[in-house]
Amino acid sequence: ELQKRIDNLEKFHKKYPRVKYLSINEQRRILVTGGAGFVGSHLVDRLMRDGHRVTVVDNFFTGSKANIEQWFGHPNFELINHDIVNSLFIEVDEIYHLASPASPPHYMFNAIKTIKTNTLGTINMLGLARRVKAKLLFTSTSEVYGDPEVHPQPETYWGNVNPIGPRACYDESKRVAEAMCFAYARQEKIQVRIARIFNTYGPRMNLNDGRVISNFIIQSLRKQNLTLYGNGNQTRSFQYIDDLVNGLVALMNSNYSKPVNLGNPDEFTIRDTALLIRDVVGNSNEVVVKEKMEDDPQRRKPDITVAKRELNWEPKTRLREGLMKTIDYFRSEVDKNDNSENL
Ligand code: NAD
Ligand code: UDP
Repeated sequence: ELQKRIDNLEKFHKKYPRVKYLSINEQRRILVTGGAGFVGSHLVDRLMRDGHRVTVVDNFFTGSKANIEQWFGHPNFELINHDIVNSLFIEVDEIYHLASPASPPHYMFNAIKTIKTNTLGTINMLGLARRVKAKLLFTSTSEVYGDPEVHPQPETYWGNVNPIGPRACYDESKRVAEAMCFAYARQEKIQVRIARIFNTYGPRMNLNDGRVISNFIIQSLRKQNLTLYGNGNQTRSFQYIDDLVNGLVALMNSNYSKPVNLGNPDEFTIRDTALLIRDVVGNSNEVVVKEKMEDDPQRRKPDITVAKRELNWEPKTRLREGLMKTIDYFRSEVDKNDNSENL
């Protein structure tokens, strides 16, 4: 009987990544909306390894089961296929609310649905937080600063957003979601945390994401031309996924309730980013100029003074190092994809 139990335990440890043992008092029940997506799945890995009980809610619009399948069947893990525009009744202690399309092609694909997800969806999650007295962390975005006139952007900057432009479905609905978080915090005394996330990249980004890092990597791997939208002088500051996950967990566990920028302040022009990626992949495809995106923010770089002071957090991964890990992932995904297309 004992041998059978030992064998079962061994099988269990082979099947799943190691998780920490927590006592009932230490273990929290954590909901991750959008947990099958790029950021969400990495956050789920971290929370599961830390020993918590994790429930993922996702409608698989851009997320995939492959991102979280390593946990299927684990007693601490649960997956609910659900659209957060509809209400949800479960019991949890903490909510990481990430569900929302995130890349410009995805959020513009169905602008009304993007607005509904960030407004009705966030109201539903805040309502749930109020009912079960859970703490809620909302993943907002650097897009709330629009095409910024202040550089770098501190949390105190109110932004320069076109309310009727093609990006408005995303940035205005994220802004109203922040307003709703604050209304619930003031009126209903629920505990909220707001992360303003700057451009993040890493393994498990959706292949069809359309964001600049994934596009340039895939184009380089497939020996295609790299597509620069506009002259490429616009800038972004890219953060590696592991740094973001550390920041999100630190923010949830902190006592700081105002918005916090989470991003890497190393700023690059998009043209230099193209050249760097081409170099790390190791080939010499051409960089071609395409039409500029409407309302494309021209400069973006986080001021992370607040995160350093309040969370004792700062990003650790340099762009080249993070790109190498990301390129390894994309290389195997592109191989899988291209091989299945040839079948
Ligand atoms: P992603 O597209 O990979 O993940 C989003 C997840 O939400 C997907 O799994 C998707 O299926 C799910 N989802 C979308 N609408 C839903 C709905 N109505 N109901 C249930 N699930 C739904 O994107 P990501 O990069 O992982 O982004 C996660 C969060 O972080 C988003 O809120 C995004 O706005 C924010 N963010 C990301 C970045 C970045 O650079 N990745 C930057 C700023 C903010
Ligand atoms: N971009 C580009 N080529 C691409 C994809 C994006 O030149 O194939 C540019 C885009 O116009 C923007 C920057 O890269 O200036 C970052 O775009 P992304 O969609 O990754 O994120 P954003 O910060 O705009 O939300």
